[in-house]
Amino acid sequence: MINLDDDIILANNMRKRAYTKYSGYNVGAVLKTKNGKKYTGCNVENNGIQSICAERVAFCKAISEGETEFERILVMGGPKDKEPEKCLPCGYCRQFMSEFVDKDFKIFTVYDGKIEEYTIEELLPNSFEI
Ligand code: ZN
Repeated sequence: MINLDDDIILANNMRKRAYTKYSGYNVGAVLKTKNGKKYTGCNVENNGIQSICAERVAFCKAISEGETEFERILVMGGPKDKEPEKCLPCGYCRQFMSEFVDKDFKIFTVYDGKIEEYTIEELLPNSFEI
């Protein structure tokens, strides 16, 4: 099992930066590239236009820095100032990520002292056929 301790700290710190005036639901994400770099994200809400999830913030930061190869993402979310609960990427984020990753790209979520691991293929079936 890979050690996610650093990512968990980073994700929790990112949750504190989330701008969640409307939902009060704070999410942090840590994206790791195949070359070992990490890019963080938090959700940023907006009144009137679509809010941006932590996962897509992390991906856009990485892509804008020239990254193209991604290994895994860790996502932690829950009500502001509360412990994380089970939080997986929304359908929009799953579809977004699938553009940039292989079918074995790993998605982790951590809550209640548990680490759950998925692949993008498991969370977005039918998108990796051919
Ligand atoms: Zn999302």
